[in-house]
Amino acid sequence: MTWKATVLTLFPDMFPGPLGLSLAGKALVEGVWSLEATDLRDFAKNKHRSVDDTPAGGGAGMVMRVDIAAAAIDAAKAAAPAGSTAIYLSPRGTPLTQERVQALANGPGVILLCGRFEGLDQRVLDARDIEEVSIGDYVLSGGDLAAQVLIDACVRLLPGVLGNDGTLTEESFASGLLEYPHYTRPRDFEGHTIPDVLISGDHEKIAKWRREQAEAFTKSRRPDLWAKRGKA
Ligand code: SAM
Repeated sequence: MTWKATVLTLFPDMFPGPLGLSLAGKALVEGVWSLEATDLRDFAKNKHRSVDDTPAGGGAGMVMRVDIAAAAIDAAKAAAPAGSTAIYLSPRGTPLTQERVQALANGPGVILLCGRFEGLDQRVLDARDIEEVSIGDYVLSGGDLAAQVLIDACVRLLPGVLGNDGTLTEESFASGLLEYPHYTRPRDFEGHTIPDVLISGDHEKIAKWRREQAEAFTKSRRPDLWAKRGKA
């Protein structure tokens, strides 16, 4: 079955954007995954096609309306493969992890609601089964780029998208560690040389060195990941 991403956005022209290039783009053309970008304004109820209103309680900015977002989610759920996960991209959401990405890639697809303005009327989230996902502790202007990040991370895990499946088992987060450092020719760059072990031809020693490097990087750069190892 084709993995499907349904995106609910005020800027459908932003899609596929970068997802139409490189490996994701090739897989899209080959039908490994499919993409439907729906304009939230299609669900607007007035001739100005407005989807936002002023915040209850006052304050700056505008808020995406509950009736419009709910209608868009309902239509997307009816058209998406059964079991698709509905997600609202939000800085307030659960931080996205490789583990969650893998689970989403294993499923039939995702419905991604992209916020704009100050955000979304809370009642959409209370009245519908929608997961809130953040792509990091910073604020974007809209959920569209966050949706693209999530889709890219999922699509590269779909069977056949990456040429070499070994890439996936060795890379960062796959075993709870950051990845070891890479080198290629030339052997000497401005006095910085490739570590001898990597040109020794001894595969056991190379594997041991890479493991130690991965552990050292993880310990020093991501003590949070290091502390979690073996506890899941
Ligand atoms: N007022 C909101 C707040 O302080 O949390 C920020 C709204 S932001 C300008 C507009 C939209 O961008 C959000 O509704 C959300 O869809 C998206 N967005 C911004 N930062 C994000 C992040 N870190 N992860 C996922 N989506 C994000």
